[in-house]
Amino acid sequence: MTVPRIVIVGGGAGGLALATRLGRTLGKKKRAEIVLLDRNATHVWKPLLHELATGVLNSTMDEVDFRGHSSAHGYRYQRGSLCGLDRESKTLNLAPILDEDGRQVLPERTLTYDYLVLSLGSVSNDFGTPGVAEHCHFIDSPGQAKMFQRDMINTFLRYTDPALRTHTTLSVGIVGGGATGVELAAELLDVTRLLNAYGVTNVDDNQVSVHLIEAAPRILPALSERISQTVHKELESLGVNVHVNTAIKEAREDALVTGDDEVIETDLNVWAAGIKAPDFLAELGLTVNKKNQVCLEQTMQSVDDPSIFAMGDCASCPQGENSTVPPRAQAVRQQAGVLADNLGRALEGKELKPFKYKDNGSLVSLARYDAVGNLMRGGASRGLFLEGWMARNAYASLYRMHQVSIHGVPKTGLTWVVDKLNRYLKPRMKLH
Ligand SMILES: Cc1cc2nc3c(=O)[nH]c(=O)nc-3n(C[C@H](O)[C@H](O)[C@H](O)COP(=O)(O)OP(=O)(O)OC[C@H]3O[C@@H](n4cnc5c(N)ncnc54)[C@H](O)[C@@H]3O)c2cc1C
Repeated sequence: MTVPRIVIVGGGAGGLALATRLGRTLGKKKRAEIVLLDRNATHVWKPLLHELATGVLNSTMDEVDFRGHSSAHGYRYQRGSLCGLDRESKTLNLAPILDEDGRQVLPERTLTYDYLVLSLGSVSNDFGTPGVAEHCHFIDSPGQAKMFQRDMINTFLRYTDPALRTHTTLSVGIVGGGATGVELAAELLDVTRLLNAYGVTNVDDNQVSVHLIEAAPRILPALSERISQTVHKELESLGVNVHVNTAIKEAREDALVTGDDEVIETDLNVWAAGIKAPDFLAELGLTVNKKNQVCLEQTMQSVDDPSIFAMGDCASCPQGENSTVPPRAQAVRQQAGVLADNLGRALEGKELKPFKYKDNGSLVSLARYDAVGNLMRGGASRGLFLEGWMARNAYASLYRMHQVSIHGVPKTGLTWVVDKLNRYLKPRMKLH
C-alpha cells in the first residue's frame, strides 16, 4: 500500500525539528513517507554561525549528519537543491549538486510530493548596494562562516608583519546592528584575545578596531530600547566603534563608504543588514512578498495551494491585521510544532489549526563578556529584563531546546556533558 509523501525542503532550525517529529509520529508508523531534502549533508543550528565564523565553535561537535539522523528517526534524507516546482504534477526539480571543483556529484533530478513544506531559510539582503557581493562576507551558511574564519585568521597573521599591513590598525566592518552583527562584534574581540593567548598573532586589542554600523537610530532596532541601550553601552566599553544612523552606500576591498561620504578603512567586511528569502522562490509560481517570502494563510498553507506549506525565514505568516511572524529561531520552532499537528490533521481530513506566535523574549549574547535580554512572562508587555549569568544560561537553553527537539532528552544531556569535558580537553578556539 502506498502512503502519502510529505517532502520537507530545508533541514534547518525548523525543517529538521519537523522531520524528526513527523518521522516519529507518522514515518515510523507507516502513515506517511517523510522525506527531508537539503542541499547540504549536515545541519548546523543557524544561530551558532557567528561562533563558527570566529572559530569558537568546533562544527564537528555540533554538526548533525542528516543520513545518520534520518535512519534513527523514521524519515528519509535526500541531498538536493530545490530549483523548480510543477504544482500540477506535484513535482520538485532538483538542481545538480557540484563539488568544490565544480564537478557534478549528483545529477539534475525530480521528486514528487503529496504535501510540500518549504523551510529553506533566508539569505542576507544587500539591497543592491554596490560592491557588497564582491567585498563583503555573508554569514548565512556553514560554508560562508568557515570562509570568514579562514580569511579572519589570515588577516590577523598578515598583521603580525608590519610590512604586510594595509592600515595602521586591523579593522573589521560589520554592516547591520541586529543580533547577528552585535554577537559577531563581541565574538571578534574575544577572538583577538584568544589568538594572542595561543601565540598565533601578536596583534593586541588596541591594534584591532571593530566597527558596527547600523542605519537605524539604534542598534537592535527589533528589540526593546532598554536592551538596545544596555548592549550599545557594553559594546562601546569593550572597544567596539558603534555607528548608528549610518547607512553604507558602497563596499570596497579596503573600506566601507557611508551615505555622508565618510570612508571607514577596513580589512574585512561582513554584511548582516537584513534578510530575504532566496530569489528563486519568487519564480516558483507562488505568491511571495517583496522579500521573496511565500505568502501564507494562518494555517501556514500557501495562499495559492493548500498542499504547500511554508515556515520560518522563507515564509510570511500573518498574525492579525498588519503583522507577520518574525524570522527567528524561536518562531520557527513553534511553527514546526503546529505544522506537525496540522499535517497529521490534513492526512485525516480534519480542519487545520491557525498558527499563533508567542514571543517568549529575546536574548543577545556578547561572547564570554555578557548576555542581555528579556523573558516574557504572563501578559507582561516588556518582559523580565535579564543580564549576566541568568541571561547567559537562558541563551544557552535555546540551543539545548533545539537539541532536545532533534535528539531527545538523554542524548542532549550526554552532549551537554561532552561539551563541558571538551572545555578542558580542547583549545577554546579552532585555529586553522
Ligand atoms: C548568526 C546568526 C545568529 C542568530 N541568532 C538568533 C538568536 O539568537 N535567536 C533567534 O531566535 N534567531 C536567531 N537567528 C535567526 C535564526 O537562525 C533563523 O530565524 C532560523 O534559523 C530560521 O530557521 P529556518 O528553518 O527558517 O531556516 P534555516 O535554519 O536557515 O535552515 C534553512 C535550511 O534550508 C537549506 N536550504 C536552503 N536552500 C535550499 C535549497 N534550495 N534546496 C534545499 N535545501 C535548501 C539550508 O541548507 C538549511 O539547512 C540568528 C541567525 C544568524 C545568521
